[in-house]
Amino acid sequence: MKQVRRALLKWYRANRRDLPWRQTRDPYAIWVSETMLQQTRVETVVPYYERFLERFPDVQALASADMDDVLGAWAGLGYYSRARNLKAAAREITDTHGGRVPDDAEDLRALPGIGRYTAGAVASIAFDRPEPVVDGNVARVLSRLLGIREDIKRPQVNKRLWEAAATLARGPHPGNLNQALMELGALVCTPAEPRCLACPLAVHCDAHRRGDAASLPKKQRKPAARRVEAAAGWVLRRGKVLAVRRPPTGLLGGLWELPGGDLEQREDPAAGLVRNLRERVGLSVARTDYAGAVEHLFSHRRLRLHLFRCDPPRGRTRLDGFDAHRWLAPGSLCELPHGAVTRKALALLAGTAASAGSDRA
Ligand code: SF4
Repeated sequence: MKQVRRALLKWYRANRRDLPWRQTRDPYAIWVSETMLQQTRVETVVPYYERFLERFPDVQALASADMDDVLGAWAGLGYYSRARNLKAAAREITDTHGGRVPDDAEDLRALPGIGRYTAGAVASIAFDRPEPVVDGNVARVLSRLLGIREDIKRPQVNKRLWEAAATLARGPHPGNLNQALMELGALVCTPAEPRCLACPLAVHCDAHRRGDAASLPKKQRKPAARRVEAAAGWVLRRGKVLAVRRPPTGLLGGLWELPGGDLEQREDPAAGLVRNLRERVGLSVARTDYAGAVEHLFSHRRLRLHLFRCDPPRGRTRLDGFDAHRWLAPGSLCELPHGAVTRKALALLAGTAASAGSDRA
């Protein structure tokens, strides 16, 4: 392990990418970056990270921010519970840690949304604590290096990976060591075509020696994403369009969208929209015009969202499954925090309005 550690640190010094969160030891900035990087590519994160820190430069600014502003800064990054948890944790840090991000992994893990990985990353990178990290990149490097050929989702395998990472982190520069492991996984020990000839760990690596690196780590196949059909409406009344907000927890929690909902099996999309508007926002719509459909892949569901322009509705707004609504000037829904699927829906409606010469969207 000593030789592995030394080789990793040397390689990292020479090859690390110049990323904005590597210019700082500010634990708040590192925590924000690590939260954004979960499930999201580095290139996507960079502009979001820079904008987020400009808008919320420290724990206090985030703790006192409006949730709509925080979600707005996150819009398009996905997995919105990360943003909600960041803000909740900032509040808790202000209330119980005097506004300072804790330097202890256990204290970090007690905060909303901070798991073992993020706690280890912040403690090691910002405070040089000998705490391990295991994310997808590290799990791949370690399973190949150690020749682990069992399913990495099995609890005992996961335990072994964390133990190996902990052994590596117990040495000089644990923050750099952890980043070196992650960076090696991102740049060299890549999923399909590991570049073993350029790897500083090749002489120590079991998978390289046996020639089966590309087949590791072993993982059970993910179940295919479930197909879901839904419908949403551009509902205008007196020149204002209806927007609804999802409750704070769950998929797309706290984000705004056009009203509608999932279709039942084999339900006609127009009939399903009319039913959803009646049941979920208390409005009756007599006529709908089909505008098209957009598709979006969430982690476990593949959504096809049918979009309609609706005649002015009758009834009073009564929400079920949403926690707020607004009648907005057309065009201003895109200023509220919304997810990628709503962005696609608005683009489609705007495009079809333009091609039809209409100003309805
Ligand atoms: Fe990965 Fe190959 Fe390096 Fe082993 S030698 S850690 S398989 S890149």
